[in-house]
Amino acid sequence: SYEMWEINPSELTFMKELGSGQYGQVRLGMWRSQHKVAIKAIKEGAMYEEDFIEEAKLMMKLSHPKLVQLYGVCSQQRPIYIVTEFMQQGCLVNYLRQRRGSFSPGLLLEMCLDVCEGMEYLEANNFIHRDLAARNCLMNDAMVVKVSDFGMARYVLDNQYTSTKGAKFPVKWSPPEVFNYCKFSSKSDVWSYGVLMWEVFTEGQMPFDQSLNHEVVAMVTNGHRLFRPKMAPPALYDIMQLCWDNVSGRKTVDVCLFSLFL
Ligand code: ADP
Repeated sequence: SYEMWEINPSELTFMKELGSGQYGQVRLGMWRSQHKVAIKAIKEGAMYEEDFIEEAKLMMKLSHPKLVQLYGVCSQQRPIYIVTEFMQQGCLVNYLRQRRGSFSPGLLLEMCLDVCEGMEYLEANNFIHRDLAARNCLMNDAMVVKVSDFGMARYVLDNQYTSTKGAKFPVKWSPPEVFNYCKFSSKSDVWSYGVLMWEVFTEGQMPFDQSLNHEVVAMVTNGHRLFRPKMAPPALYDIMQLCWDNVSGRKTVDVCLFSLFL
């Protein structure tokens, strides 16, 4: 017998490959021959699977129009599958890069707002994303941006990704209290959100692209911040800078959302 969050793999059919990431391949599929879904097959040794399966029960309950919905897992087999909402346009950073020069500031603001609403919901539910970045947001055919991979950083089995000194650690999206003490919080998500706004308004540039991780640590510690993107009006850059305040002065997601409407 299957629990609510357990998907019977015989009810899945596989279609084209959508991409691949830290955990392995992601494919488009159908659930019960009717619903398009994204299916992530977790490659062996890439994830703390037991811990994730336990957490997935909680993550299933997170449901919001600006979050990529987790539908369930196939945990009775190897590789395990993670089944989520299908997002036709793929990841936000590639979407931005492939269409450079075609965005109005209003449209870019719209994307930031979508992410902010998703993050506000996570914060309201005391859920920390830990790896918010444009690469971890997805877009659908209705041009709605949704936040994906929330909380998943905790289950990665790869020191290069999980250690703040590792080559894959997202230092460029991290505030000092994270790269110094691993102190994750909704406020560290707000810092990452500021960097995401910067990614959106540069149409997908790499933050600090001339610098190595350890150089970014030194620069940010000394008060250096990302420049104002040409497409970002000064008032919007002010909001980004609020996101990059030290942790005691930093605003909550709530306040960021509110400011975006001004
Ligand atoms: P990982 O978490 O293993 O690093 P990602 O979540 O980044 O993998 O997925 C890798 C790629 O697969 C993404 O960049 C995107 O192109 C595609 N992808 C992932 N999830 C979906 C989805 N729900 N809908 C459509 N494409 C997706």
